[in-house]
Amino acid sequence: MNSLTDVTRLNDISRRASERPGLRSKLAAGSLAAIIAIVTLIMLPSAKLQLQEIRPFLPMFAVTVFITEYLTGYLLFTHFRVLREPFLACLAGAYFFVAVMVSIQILIFPGVFSETGLLGAGPQSAVWLWTMWHGGFPAIVSLALMLRTPLLRNASKMRLSGGISGTLLMIHAPLVAAALAYLAVANGGLLPPLVNGTSYQQLVQSPAATIVIVINVCALLACFLISRLRDLLSVWLAVALVAGLADVVLTLAASSRYSLGWYAGRCLSMLSSSMVLGTLLWETTGLYRRLAQVHETLAENSLRDALTAAYNRGYFMSQFPSDIRHARRARTPLAMLMIDIDHFKNYNDTFGHLQGDVCLKAVTAAMQNELRRPGDYLARYGGEEFAVVLPNTDINGATHIAENLRKAVATLGLKNGASGPEMVTVSVGLSTFDPATDSGTVDEIVGRADAALYEAKHRGRNRVVAFNLLRGAEAAQVGESSRDTAN
Ligand code: GH3
Ligand code: MG
Ligand code: MG
Repeated sequence: MNSLTDVTRLNDISRRASERPGLRSKLAAGSLAAIIAIVTLIMLPSAKLQLQEIRPFLPMFAVTVFITEYLTGYLLFTHFRVLREPFLACLAGAYFFVAVMVSIQILIFPGVFSETGLLGAGPQSAVWLWTMWHGGFPAIVSLALMLRTPLLRNASKMRLSGGISGTLLMIHAPLVAAALAYLAVANGGLLPPLVNGTSYQQLVQSPAATIVIVINVCALLACFLISRLRDLLSVWLAVALVAGLADVVLTLAASSRYSLGWYAGRCLSMLSSSMVLGTLLWETTGLYRRLAQVHETLAENSLRDALTAAYNRGYFMSQFPSDIRHARRARTPLAMLMIDIDHFKNYNDTFGHLQGDVCLKAVTAAMQNELRRPGDYLARYGGEEFAVVLPNTDINGATHIAENLRKAVATLGLKNGASGPEMVTVSVGLSTFDPATDSGTVDEIVGRADAALYEAKHRGRNRVVAFNLLRGAEAAQVGESSRDTAN
């Protein structure tokens, strides 16, 4: 994979609100929705069955729902701040709406903090709050989903970029929750009675119940029709809405507190609230994993030459000085080869640049194949020039390897020219660094290898020439090691 592909992948990952669901996710979500529906249908006939009044159940339920809804809202809003997708801000609002509702619900619920509930709540307050919560959440989710329709999406995006903050899209929901809670709680509740003791049969018979069911069904339909379940978030939001609808149906069928349907409804409520949170956490950890992978590939590719996949000059320039420092510290010799393809212009002129690229790759691979020690490396220094670094290698060892490289290219048998016996060959300039006798700098060592390469070209190419320090560095005097004919 090249760097461009990596960057595209990175952009793709960071722009998507949610990843596409795989078959396994779809099957898992579908199965869970089916189980919820089946369990609800099985429980429905005995929903009214009165069970023991477990008082700690409600605080436990409220704390669970508050934490999951608050975290879901928070994560959705952080997603929105990265992606600027209005749908996410509004959906975050829906979760904050429930967080507000459930926290007030627990304060005012009869028998939890006081027999009649705190904040001056009346006997009707808790049931009205439940009604507003279970109608309000799917209503805000529907609104959020509508922001995904092409028309509203573009309009709201334009508004967002025009300065109206997405915070408004989110904050309206908890504010509405607070206002509704005020209506339900203030002065013991300003709304008509729906509950009698622990029985809320009146709610079941009132239009409010029908409205709540209709809103829940509409939200579920909107989720299917608008999102078309194309991303993981929508898939699990749909399951959350199924669980929400089942909660409403069972709670209404139970028609009194602490009955089987009432307990089951609360459990489904907890399940529903954890659904999207689970997806967001799953996606966030997956995103970190993918980002780390892409970062690793990008870092590796930034050191590689795009054509030959050998290390590039940038790598050589950063690595070679530390190789020399290491050689100096360890008092071990180091050798460096500068290699240039002979008459490569002729090759390009004869076969074209594309074929020239193929030849460059073949020459690189042949030379790379000869470097077997872990510390040795080859880098593309420029057009058809390569640098090879051989740590802990003296002049004899380096000459041997340089010869192997030269032979490896010559024996590729690539013709350099339309006719005639000339083959593709390389010339090699060799320079060594001995920390015991040499204080050579990076530039000096490269310069010596360059001078030796120049001499190899001068002497007829397809040969290895070593820079000879003992005979004086001034005039780039060199000693030739050997030569093979390549034809
Ligand atoms: P010499 O033996 O003296 O090195 O002769 P030469 O023809 O190899 O030397 P010159 O420097 O004149 O030509 C180098 C050629 O390498 C010219 C340039 O077009 C070619 N070249 C450099 N980079 C690439 C590349 O990435 N692909 C291809 N196809 N050709 C390249
Ligand atoms: Mg050349
Ligand atoms: Mg050249």
